[in-house]
Amino acid sequence: MQKDLREFIRTIPDFPHKGIMFRDVTTLFGHPEGLRLTIERIVDLFKDSNIDKVAALEARGFILGGAVARDLGVGFVPIRKAGKLPGKTISEDYELEYGKATLELHDDALEAGEKVLLLDDLIATGGTAEAGIKLVERLGAQVTQSAFVIDLPDLGGAAKIEAMGIPVHVLCAFE
Ligand code: IMP
Repeated sequence: MQKDLREFIRTIPDFPHKGIMFRDVTTLFGHPEGLRLTIERIVDLFKDSNIDKVAALEARGFILGGAVARDLGVGFVPIRKAGKLPGKTISEDYELEYGKATLELHDDALEAGEKVLLLDDLIATGGTAEAGIKLVERLGAQVTQSAFVIDLPDLGGAAKIEAMGIPVHVLCAFE
């Protein structure tokens, strides 16, 4: 039987707001087996997928992104919160589970036609992932695969991204 990664994930009630059950991946990434299994499972999914670049979402996605890109033998591209990237950027506003935000991407981070794997720790409503996909597509590249450690299926994000024609892979879910 495959180890259930949920055993490594801590749940913190009422963070960052009352009524939210926050799924905390610091305990997953902080555990040597949890970190190894997480990276290995994502790499296994995509090792034959002809990915050109891994793009990940700030900040927890970066922990996955660097390791997965290195093991797939491709480059890593950060998608960051507003005001953090030093070069010329493009930006997308989006709604998230607990408010509004803006994501940015360097305008020369991807070549037209490149195939991108989008990574983050968790998909909830899918708003963050959708903004990341729009940024990649505005540079003429294509998100051909996406992966998340955790899915919150009740919030519908994975279904929304699948409906955009992008395969969504998740390592575990909290109903
Ligand atoms: P979405 O845009 O609604 O899909 O929310 C996903 C984004 O919010 C991701 O970047 C997550 O890191 C973050 N997020 C939302 N809920 C949680 C949670 O329970 N634990 C960890 N991150 C979360």
